[in-house]
Amino acid sequence: MKILVCISNVPDTTTKIRFTDNNTAFDATGVQWIINPWDELALTRALELKEASGEAIEKITVINVGPQTTEPTIRKALAIGADDAVRIDAVPEDAYAVASNLSSYLKDNPYDIILCGIDSSDYNGSLVGGMLAEFLDLPSVSSVSKLDIDGGDIKLNREIDGGSEVLSTVVPFVAIVQKGIAFEPRIPSMRGIMMARKKPLNVVPSGGEAALTEFVSYDLPPAKSACKMVDAENVKELVDLLHNEAKAI
Ligand SMILES: Cc1cc2nc3c(=O)[nH]c(=O)nc-3n(C[C@H](O)[C@H](O)[C@H](O)COP(=O)(O)OP(=O)(O)OC[C@H]3O[C@@H](n4cnc5c(N)ncnc54)[C@H](O)[C@@H]3O)c2cc1C
Repeated sequence: MKILVCISNVPDTTTKIRFTDNNTAFDATGVQWIINPWDELALTRALELKEASGEAIEKITVINVGPQTTEPTIRKALAIGADDAVRIDAVPEDAYAVASNLSSYLKDNPYDIILCGIDSSDYNGSLVGGMLAEFLDLPSVSSVSKLDIDGGDIKLNREIDGGSEVLSTVVPFVAIVQKGIAFEPRIPSMRGIMMARKKPLNVVPSGGEAALTEFVSYDLPPAKSACKMVDAENVKELVDLLHNEAKAI
């Protein structure tokens, strides 16, 4: 059995977002790039499953659709423990183009379990996993918070309102994972970092379709107004401010 983890290369979650060229381009100056946090957890769970499986899971591959600049992030996934990596050499201009590139590669290079994160922390589309399953004509389960393999049986838990739902499926399938899929992400060890340098990172040309959407411009949210401190004892002033100034009550 082979597991594929789709990884998105995103700005560190503490990045101060800036735009240039009259708000038409993201300013990547000084930005630290990381593996999308859901994808890091997906990779961690894949490694746990492989370790528990004996020989049943033969390898874990990570895949990214992106230009060469994403390779340090891919190498980090290899340092965490993925066996090999694929970079589809294309600028990921929208979720359709990303899913189309992934599916075009996977039609010739199938995997049994395909893991995607529930969303990418940069563009928050929550689209790629579902589209990919559709393009590959595979079953998909979304919002997966637990994934277990017991012999040949696959069990998935989904969070639903007020509880959780347990599902079973057969390979191959796509799981779109979220909080709970792994306890916390693995951190690369020094040995992992050294080994990652020698692990295969295959660069393949884009075989997918072009983006369906065209980007126009970005807007930042309005700047927050200054914070006003109110004495904890002064409830009257607080109510007065909320009523007359903030117009919240
Ligand atoms: C130069 C540049 C220009 C861009 N311009 C645009 C634009 O104009 N409009 C726009 O919408 N987006 C743009 N993007 C963002 C890029 O298209 C997103 O990666 C893509 O839209 C998917 O984001 P999403 O939020 O839909 O992913 P989601 O569907 O939220 O991601 C869910 C999961 O899908 C997988 N995934 C997502 N992206 C990738 C990837 N690249 N490779 C492998 N797996 C992936 C991951 O598992 C992720 O957890 C641009 C990115 C770059 C680098």
